[in-house]
Amino acid sequence: MSDTIFHKIMRREIPADIVYEDDDMIAFRDIAPQAPVHVLFVPKRDFSTLNDVPADSAVVIGKLAVAAAAYAKREGFDEAGYRIVMNCNGDAGQTVFQIHLHLLAGAPLGHFGTPGR
Ligand code: AMP
Repeated sequence: MSDTIFHKIMRREIPADIVYEDDDMIAFRDIAPQAPVHVLFVPKRDFSTLNDVPADSAVVIGKLAVAAAAYAKREGFDEAGYRIVMNCNGDAGQTVFQIHLHLLAGAPLGHFGTPGR
């Protein structure tokens, strides 16, 4: 059994502010939000990084993105806009090695991807 902090959240061993769950994923608010809305969408299938997702499992990633868009619509910021991000490994700052999609919204988000920022 994989044992990242996100697996502990899935198993309800540590608390989280869960906003969505289905058979494929769980979504909860980031503990250190980088925007007024910052929700993490985490698949229940185990993949440490995006590098580990084979082509025949692409649907796992697609479902995270579609669920994030549906959440944006439900919460009413789909037209205002939002950003989805997946960090992979060290240069991107990945810290939890169970893949997850960040949904950021609630304010103009500015530029991103500047080296060293
Ligand atoms: P990443 O840097 O892409 O691996 O993102 C990991 C994210 O998980 C960070 O934004 C953290 O703030 C967030 N995080 C870590 N621990 C928790 C937790 N217990 N509950 C919610 N979010 C968490």
